[in-house]
Order: sequence, then structure tokens, then C-alpha cells
Amino acid sequence: MLETTICGSLPRPDWLAEPEKLKGGWKLSGQALEDGKRRAAVEWLRHQEAAGIGTVTDGEVFRIHFVHGFLEKLQGIDWQKKTLMGIRDNRYQLEVPTVTGPLARPAPVHLDEVRYVRGQTKHHLKFTLPGPMTICDTIADGYYGSRPQMAMAFADILNKEARELQAAGVDVIQFDEPAFNVFLKDVKDWGIEALHRALDGLTCKTAVHICYGYGIQENIDWKKTLGSEWRQYEEIFPELNRSRVDQVSLECAASKVPLDLLRLIPDKELMVGAVAVTADHIETPEEVAATLKAAMAHVDSNRVQPCTNCGMAPIPYDVALAKLRSLGAGAELVRRELGQ
Ligand code: ZN
Repeated sequence: MLETTICGSLPRPDWLAEPEKLKGGWKLSGQALEDGKRRAAVEWLRHQEAAGIGTVTDGEVFRIHFVHGFLEKLQGIDWQKKTLMGIRDNRYQLEVPTVTGPLARPAPVHLDEVRYVRGQTKHHLKFTLPGPMTICDTIADGYYGSRPQMAMAFADILNKEARELQAAGVDVIQFDEPAFNVFLKDVKDWGIEALHRALDGLTCKTAVHICYGYGIQENIDWKKTLGSEWRQYEEIFPELNRSRVDQVSLECAASKVPLDLLRLIPDKELMVGAVAVTADHIETPEEVAATLKAAMAHVDSNRVQPCTNCGMAPIPYDVALAKLRSLGAGAELVRRELGQ
């Protein structure tokens, strides 16, 4: 019970990449870089196992950015044609590549990484992919002419990738859709449809991660504008409950999400964020336990997966490690209280 997991990303060590940046550059190259990524992934696997995380990830240490790491291997994208784009409805600016032709995936993107990581752990393995709507909010369109059309093209590509990763032994495939929490109407109009296309035919567990974003300053500032109660999930949870996805995430640590919103997704497993992804505070196991118990007042414990609020890529390595340990220890406290 209370199978613990993380949203996905963990900090890349400072010998591998520029630390504490959303898209810090690599410090190695060639074979040394490939070996370094594998070493960093295995170190995080061992840390997760020691912390009692049941469903582990590769920490996304193989990628430079959670969206662009996937896009790098696709055809139809011009990386020289950079567009400065207002991301997540202009919350922050990012220089993004441009789609200039039909999208195609000439070869698997993450398959080698997954095969390697699968061979390194006996724990349940989750792999995260960017969701189609979020990809479309992180790349400029110079070809398709409409976001839904471009999203469906990405969804078909993601589906091929996901099926191969499932065959390589991944237990959970998670699509990261932070954009779901911003474009609430689009979620209903075409976001869920694109998500369904991406997870079509999968028989492993499927998850969607929505959130209020990484612990970067732009997001911290944005959250201050959202008022005393964050009710964005209220609009999309009913849609997600009707969807075919198995697991939905939400952030409950240091957030103003009213926990009774959990009642809007009675048919899904819930990844309950019990550690925040800002570096200013390391939760104690007791704080983690308190957050989990507050969530469990609204949802049966057998549907709860203690989790991080979001990815921890941009925070210091040691802070992320301490949060990981508190997450595992806090979940264990609750299990013991419940006599499990
Ligand atoms: Zn997130």
C-alpha cells in the first residue's frame, strides 16, 4: 500500500551538466557523456531504492529538457529556426525550435536508455514522456497551422515510442501535461483526445502528470497571482476521471489546492505530491505524513501513491536527495500507523 513514486526528473549531478537550471548544458561529450548519463541514472536508482521509492524513474538525466530531449530525435523540426515563445500562456519566455515539415520519428528516441535502466533495477519502472499539448506549448508551429492538428501528429509519434518502451519492460508510462493546467478549455476540446491517441493500445499503467510547474522563479511568481485557493484542477478533473488514463497527479505539498478536489477523480489512482519542488524547505517525514493523511481524508488509501509535486531537475542535488528520503520515510510512517 502507498506505493511511493516520483514525478520524474531529478537533478543531473554537477559533473554531468550545469546544475540548477531548467536546461543546463552538458559538461561532457561523446562517449564520456553517454557513460556519464548512465552513471548518473544508476546513482539515482540506488538513491530511490534506498529511500523506499517503489516505482522509480531514470531521473530524466539522459535529457537536456523534458520536452526538447524527446524532440531532438524527430524529423520535421528546424533547431536553427529559433522562436522566442511565451510558454504556458506567457508565464515565461523560452527560445524554442520550430516545426517546419511533417513530423516523423526515424528511430526510437529513448529505447536504449530504457533497456539499460530496466536492467539496473528490479523496482517498478516509470518512464515519462512529454504530453502532446505540452509539446505544442514548447515548440513553434511553422507547418501544421493549428495546435490540435500538430498535437495529433505528436500523439501518433508518442504512441509508437510508448509501445516500444512498454515492450522493453516499463511498468508505467507517464505523459507530462503541465499545459493542461493552463489551457483548461483546450483540454476538453482536444487535449484529452490527443492524450488518448498517445496512450492508445498500451496495457501497462498509464499516468498523466499535471502541475503548477517546476520550482523556478517564474512559477513561484505566477502562483502568487492565483489567489487563496487554486481551483484550476476543478475544471479538468471530471474530464480526466472520464478519460482512459489510470493515474493522475496533483500537488498537495505547500500548495493551495483544496484537497476536496480529490473527490472529483474517484476512479483513478492518485499521485499525491507530498514534497514541494522548491529548494527553500526540506520537508520532514512527519510533514510528508501529514500531507498524505490530509489527502487520504478524501480518497481511499489504496488509490494513493505518495509522490513529488513535480520534477526536481532545477533544484540542488542534495536538496532533492533529502526530499526523496523524507518522501519515503513519510510514507512509511503512514503505513505503520495504518498497521500495514
Ligand atoms: Zn510538473
